[in-house]
Amino acid sequence: MTYVIAKGCCNDASCVSVCPVDCIRPRPSDPEFKTAEQLYIDPASCIDCAACMWECPVSAIHDENDMPSGLDIFRDINAEYFEHNPLRVTETARTGRRKLPETRPKLRVAIVGAGASGCYAAEALAVVPGVEVSLFDRLPTPYGLIRAGVAPDHQKTKSITKQFEKVLKRPNVHSYFNVELGKHITVEDLLEWHHAVIVSVGADDDRKLGIPGEDLPGSYSAREFVAWYNGSPSHADSSFDLTGEQVVLIGNGNVALDVARVLAERPKAFAATDMTDYAIDALESSGVREVMIVARRGIDEAAFTTSELHALTELDGVDVVIRKEEVEADVAAPLSNDSFGTRGKRDLASRICVQESGDADRKITFRFRHEPVSINGDTEVESITFRSTLDESVEETIKTRLVLRAIGYRTSPTPGVPFDPKKGTIPNDGGRVVNVDMEHAVQGLYCTGWAKRGATGVIGTSKWCSIETVNAIFEDFEQGLLRDPAALDEEVLGFVASRQPELIDLEGWLRIDAAERLRGAEAPTPKPRRKFHSLADMLSVGLGQRA
Ligand SMILES: Cc1cc2nc3c(=O)[nH]c(=O)nc-3n(C[C@H](O)[C@H](O)[C@H](O)COP(=O)(O)OP(=O)(O)OC[C@H]3O[C@@H](n4cnc5c(N)ncnc54)[C@H](O)[C@@H]3O)c2cc1C
Ligand code: SF4
Ligand code: SF4
Repeated sequence: MTYVIAKGCCNDASCVSVCPVDCIRPRPSDPEFKTAEQLYIDPASCIDCAACMWECPVSAIHDENDMPSGLDIFRDINAEYFEHNPLRVTETARTGRRKLPETRPKLRVAIVGAGASGCYAAEALAVVPGVEVSLFDRLPTPYGLIRAGVAPDHQKTKSITKQFEKVLKRPNVHSYFNVELGKHITVEDLLEWHHAVIVSVGADDDRKLGIPGEDLPGSYSAREFVAWYNGSPSHADSSFDLTGEQVVLIGNGNVALDVARVLAERPKAFAATDMTDYAIDALESSGVREVMIVARRGIDEAAFTTSELHALTELDGVDVVIRKEEVEADVAAPLSNDSFGTRGKRDLASRICVQESGDADRKITFRFRHEPVSINGDTEVESITFRSTLDESVEETIKTRLVLRAIGYRTSPTPGVPFDPKKGTIPNDGGRVVNVDMEHAVQGLYCTGWAKRGATGVIGTSKWCSIETVNAIFEDFEQGLLRDPAALDEEVLGFVASRQPELIDLEGWLRIDAAERLRGAEAPTPKPRRKFHSLADMLSVGLGQRA
């Protein structure tokens, strides 16, 4: 018997270190780790001890004899990974627990942004005795995109927040939510009180297509649509025209597949999730029958992961369509890289192509090798025109009222923090923020997560990204490169409260959390939580003005 890693793996590699026979790959030290779609267990070496299953924070590991329905395919996917990457057991560098120098026993670090990367950074810092962490977020709620991005039907993925809650509850981690860098506090302020500042503000802006009609009403970023259905306070008042039969999504990463699932699936599939009530109501009356996902390149370069494509094929009442003529040449060509993920995509796409179209009344259609030329309409979107990237003379216009661009997130500039407008990230060298000329590290300033590396990778990718940044801080501290802050012996709380009297501390967040869970439990169809989506409601509960 073996254990199997299936859908939902967030690549945090927690399972790797607990495996007594070292049979989970790739490991963070392996070159393939950064681009791996997920981790895999070698069935020939697994001794069936279940340690990894108990360790996994998102319940992505299963006993092969007890696989949840629809996930059987992952048994083969795990085994095939090792056919292409035979297991080699090698010694990995083990890191001992850090200690602060005896002469400087106190290190205080501010982290701005309490998303996945900020929480992982807090975790890596707070385990070291003598370290104090101040964790800020501009919202009254922590967890960034885990709360406001990850799809409502990915509740197991969201359960990583249980691990982060333990971090927030550590006595040396102090939460200051509803406090915004650039509005209530500045980098200079923070350096008065802390040795170092980590900027982990994520990516809250969009890449643009740069084509005519992009700004017409009816053309939005997938980011806005995701923030709307997830109840992000900044987008709760948005509305999207779901009366047309066809919605066009540009870009084919996992965000596009999330959005396609939300649009194509029956809304009742979300009734027991934390999707907002207003989004479920809007989807109930939706006229959408086809979601078309269009991308410039071919199947080998498709940005989605095999497991998310496979998840679409398991949806009830939804056909997945891939046109044979758009992938067969790619599939027949020798693999340009030996990526296990590419092989998996080719295999699955080939199988989908030859499937008989079912009798479902909704479908998700993939189109490859087409680039958008213009979004058309007088006062709002009426259609979109694509050009074939194989034959530029071939254009195709598709009638639609809603175009969603899922071509990537980018970081927006944060006041007082260097910014690379080309890459849409904070310029850095292994997490040390550098000036835009990339020559000088800015003393005391660090970054992590999507703001550091761009909007790529899953939640667990940020763990290793944050560990790299935290290691840089410890090295700089040990080498005396960080100035002792003027207010090191004073409480940070008083200073923050003087800037933002409505600050939400850990107790405040736990009040919001408990109230949301209670509302969820009391809903006609019980849910894990019913989120507050207005800042006023969050503050009212968080500040203790309402039970
Ligand atoms: C739609 C979508 C679905 C996804 N689904 C999955 C999935 O199923 N599985 C998976 O593993 N990964 C998924 N991801 C990826 C995952 O969400 C990211 O890898 C991860 O959230 C990045 O973490 P981060 O900390 O860099 O950014 P974020 O999570 O965005 O956190 C940034 C935080 O900074 C705060 N902030 C911003 N500016 C300021 C400021 N000026 N002052 C104070 N605070 C500020 C924000 O409020 C936010 O809380 C998904 C991503 C998206 C967009
Ligand atoms: S079940 Fe045990 S031996 Fe098998 S992969 Fe998990 S930790 Fe390793
Ligand atoms: S989520 Fe983490 S612990 Fe779970 S299988 Fe993936 S890498 Fe392993």
